Amino acid sequence: MMGRDELVDRVSKYNPETNKALIARAYDFAQDVHDHQTRKSGEKYFIHPKAVAEILTELKLDDATIATGLLHDTIEDTRATREEINKLFGDEIGALVDGVTKLDQLDLVTKKAEQAENFRKLLIAISSDVRVLLVKLADRLHNMRTMEHMRDDRRRHISRETMEIYAPLAGRMGIQWLRDELEDLSFRWLYPEAYETILARLEKLRSSYSRLIIEVEKELHLKLEEYGIDALVTNREKKPFSIWRKMENRQIALEQLCDIYGFRVITKSVEDCYRVLGVIHTTWQIVPGRFKDYISVPKSNDYQSIHTTIIGPERQRVELQIRTEKMHEVGEFGIAAHTLYKESIEDESNGKQHPKHDLLQDSSAYQWLRQLVDMLREGDNPEEFLEHTRLELFQDQVFTFTPNGGLIVLPHAATPIDFAYAVHTDIGDTCISCKINGRPMPLVTNLKNGDEVEINCAEGHMPPAAWENIAVTGKAKAAIRRSTRASMQEQYGRLGHEIIIQGFAFAERKFTKTLLEEKLFRLPQGSVVEVFAAVGRGELAVDLVISALYPDYVADDDSDVSVMKAAGHGEGGWLGKTMGLKFLWAGQPETIGPGSGIPIRGTPDDMPIRFAPKGGALPGERIVGIMTQGEGIIIYPIHAKALQKYDDQPERWVDVTWDIQSESRERFPALISVTTYNMPGSLARIAQLIGEADANIDKLRMVRRAVDFTEMMIGLEVWDIKHLNRIVAGIKAMKIVNRVFRIQG
Ligand code: MN
Repeated sequence: MMGRDELVDRVSKYNPETNKALIARAYDFAQDVHDHQTRKSGEKYFIHPKAVAEILTELKLDDATIATGLLHDTIEDTRATREEINKLFGDEIGALVDGVTKLDQLDLVTKKAEQAENFRKLLIAISSDVRVLLVKLADRLHNMRTMEHMRDDRRRHISRETMEIYAPLAGRMGIQWLRDELEDLSFRWLYPEAYETILARLEKLRSSYSRLIIEVEKELHLKLEEYGIDALVTNREKKPFSIWRKMENRQIALEQLCDIYGFRVITKSVEDCYRVLGVIHTTWQIVPGRFKDYISVPKSNDYQSIHTTIIGPERQRVELQIRTEKMHEVGEFGIAAHTLYKESIEDESNGKQHPKHDLLQDSSAYQWLRQLVDMLREGDNPEEFLEHTRLELFQDQVFTFTPNGGLIVLPHAATPIDFAYAVHTDIGDTCISCKINGRPMPLVTNLKNGDEVEINCAEGHMPPAAWENIAVTGKAKAAIRRSTRASMQEQYGRLGHEIIIQGFAFAERKFTKTLLEEKLFRLPQGSVVEVFAAVGRGELAVDLVISALYPDYVADDDSDVSVMKAAGHGEGGWLGKTMGLKFLWAGQPETIGPGSGIPIRGTPDDMPIRFAPKGGALPGERIVGIMTQGEGIIIYPIHAKALQKYDDQPERWVDVTWDIQSESRERFPALISVTTYNMPGSLARIAQLIGEADANIDKLRMVRRAVDFTEMMIGLEVWDIKHLNRIVAGIKAMKIVNRVFRIQG
């Protein structure tokens, strides 16, 4: 741990114009006011602000930020006041310390509404001066590094907040090492067993890889020398959490990951990057589809590099990243790297002095932050906003193109719908079909890097409500929600009309709007349109409409009417009772009626809903409802194959979302297939892992049993999609397991 003079020295090393006296004063002041405080570990409290300032020097930040690091806890925890800080260190530092203090009071993993409001405050605070966020991130990093003495529940709470909010924000600011370390530390406290498993397996892998790494490195050096390229070669190992995340997302085993071990080749110029690429591709065989050129098309956080994967000796895959020194700085330090290039920018603007933090504001990471805040000001509901932003926080980018070559950057898993809205809201609202790379494709397709997308529009078309669940960008979701609120009513009307036509046809009675108009007095609704909408929403049974037009009509025994009778709406006087009568579908035993506590929002009141029998929708994954005749609304996961048959019937799609309180302790069924090598105790070990992961095994069936392997189907009861993914990844990480995947209807 460094003392005052060392800290000052360190700052002046990267910033010769540093105000040494200022930093020294901040150091002394903080040490003084924290004097009698201790940390949970029993150490002096001042250790903490000092360490935070030290982390900030690694990011090579300006004097005000370093001083803020030292002072960041003084207003909250000591007798010091904002006025005092202003007086002693100036308004700029006063405002920064105040900003960090305010962030400290925001709990970002609390109840949903409060969390949304707190997240909004966080964004507004950091968007006025992004240095507040950098200090907060350094503060969080040091706290995460020193949590052993904390209570376990507190530790998990802080880890969750770090994993969900601060690590993604560090990533968005482009500070890759900080993001990696925050994620890894949270991972360790949140999922200790998984962390240990991966560490152990990494160690094993490392021993078998080390010889190969040396071989590739030697060869690489030789080749670079042969071609006269001056470059630095370093090797790197993926962090346990990034491995875990990849295993979860891509559902593959640890050994199948291509990029656990890799090299970085750091060159002097962009030209050399491509020369190195040429050398690599002529020396080794490459893995197709793994080549990415983020130099031509940088990521939205300014990251630039070329990625390629080669097949090394012994057929092992090795990832190579090629970049210039400057790109490397930006890749590791992100937004903070912008302060490093102060001089060159000053030259271009005729020596005009920019405060360093102004340079921070030029970065695309900062632009992203500004955009978020603008979206907030447009007055989106904070809860929706939180949902959208958090989606965007976690997603990597895909780069897509318009037919005339315009670049549209979208989050991972974006669809042509998002693309259309990214181009223009009107295009999104009226889009009806698309071509991807010249081929007609469904609008639900996930776009890939390099896709060229052509959108076809039809004037007057309205987006179906369910698109809100299909779209992934905040912009598309908000626009769809706006335009579907109005058209929902119309959709129910169309569905109701269709149900009525079919119902009358089935009953072999004639139906016209005029006939209905004449007999309207027999129904509680005031107009034909309202009757259609009521039937569409499921509030009025079609048989009641038939009986209104044809009083002699008696439905078959197994039809809706008999259900109504059973429910006490029999023969005499039914007319008076239709008021407030809820639609009862012919009772399927597995139909879950209203009020049974099925946690779905967005369905018409009191309409029966149930889950698709093989769908196994889980909280946290995107879902849609399909209106059916006779079965109410059936809930499917968005990627269910069964949804394809409703593609051309947008009027049936109902926009639904989960309505789960974080305290809810309800479990949901999920089905997985596991193939294991036949080794003694395999099943017991899988069952043990599932138990330890806090899931239940509901049913188990051997599907196939061969000499060398067994395939089984396991029915689980889990909390949500994350829980399931965690279990699947955990099973996948087991040596005895050959293949695991989720079975979806
Ligand atoms: Mn602190």
